[in-house]
Amino acid sequence: MKAAVVNTNCSGVEVVEKDVPTIGTGQALVKMEYCGVCHTDLHVAAGDYGKHPGRILGHEGIGIVQQVADDVTTLKVGDRVSVAWLYESCNHCEYCVSGRETLCRSVKNAGYTVDGGMAEYCVVAADYAVKVPEGLDPAQASSITCAGVTTYKAIKVSEIRAGQWIALYGAGGLGNLSVQYAKKVFGAKVIAIDVNDDKLALAQQSGADVVINSAQENAEQRIIEITQGGAHAAVVTAVAKAAFNSAVNAVRAGGTVVAVALPVDTMDLSIPRIVLDGIRVIGSLVGTRQDLAEAFEFGARGLVVPVVQTRPLEDVAAIFQEMHDGKIQGRMVLDFTHHHHHHCGCANHA
Ligand SMILES: [Zn+2]
Ligand SMILES: [Zn+2]
Repeated sequence: MKAAVVNTNCSGVEVVEKDVPTIGTGQALVKMEYCGVCHTDLHVAAGDYGKHPGRILGHEGIGIVQQVADDVTTLKVGDRVSVAWLYESCNHCEYCVSGRETLCRSVKNAGYTVDGGMAEYCVVAADYAVKVPEGLDPAQASSITCAGVTTYKAIKVSEIRAGQWIALYGAGGLGNLSVQYAKKVFGAKVIAIDVNDDKLALAQQSGADVVINSAQENAEQRIIEITQGGAHAAVVTAVAKAAFNSAVNAVRAGGTVVAVALPVDTMDLSIPRIVLDGIRVIGSLVGTRQDLAEAFEFGARGLVVPVVQTRPLEDVAAIFQEMHDGKIQGRMVLDFTHHHHHHCGCANHA
């Protein structure tokens, strides 16, 4: 089978021929349909999180179950399932038994510590492969497997309520989905902040009430004006220290800042601001299986429509370069189904 792997000197991605993997106890073999490309894949391929030469990348995978081990009861042949970043956890630690399995200290991650979904076939831990509901386009589902569930979970932990203001820093691959979840699922009033006008235009099409280009104006000042005192919550998917600092200043007293992006940096937290204004700052990492099932369900109901573009596996190195250069709107999805029709959901191609 063909697979996109970390190259031998851990400097990027390459397509190689590999044997179709075999399944063991508790596992299932999935014939991949689609796998999205994520910034995390760029970091893994570059060796930023440690060197894993030959590792099959990909944690935004969707495919059809071809074979299950004898002991598997949760999946059957023909089910459409996900290959997500949360590949498997220990299932018995304090995090696993309290609905926080993404924090498990012995978690396995697809496309990083175990082989992922950028291949024609992928082995999954059956109990951790979340089923894709009927009515959800599989290419769009691939985007929800990482970007969608990550933003859905971040907004969930912000505890935003209908009618309240939420400030979403970053309108790129994650931001576009966060706008849709915030607006259509949580009923919030949405302010999208970015430094790129094209991404802000996409945020506006996706339903943002207000867009702010923070390279051209002071975002926190505008947010405080528009919301009469600050947003109730802010979610930061922008990979810039400035965005985190702006978010802390842009929320009202009692507000919540949810950190999602991962710049290798520290943020400035004024202790009086945090204490006197009762600001909560929370980190949020992807989502649990239950979060993913919920995020899929809103996609299946048509409330959230990921903007995706399908490309052949052979394009993977070019896609990594385009992502690295910030040239991509929405999500790029590798297509293993071999009919390369255009899957873009944005209004430009409607
Ligand atoms: Zn991802
Ligand atoms: Zn655990």
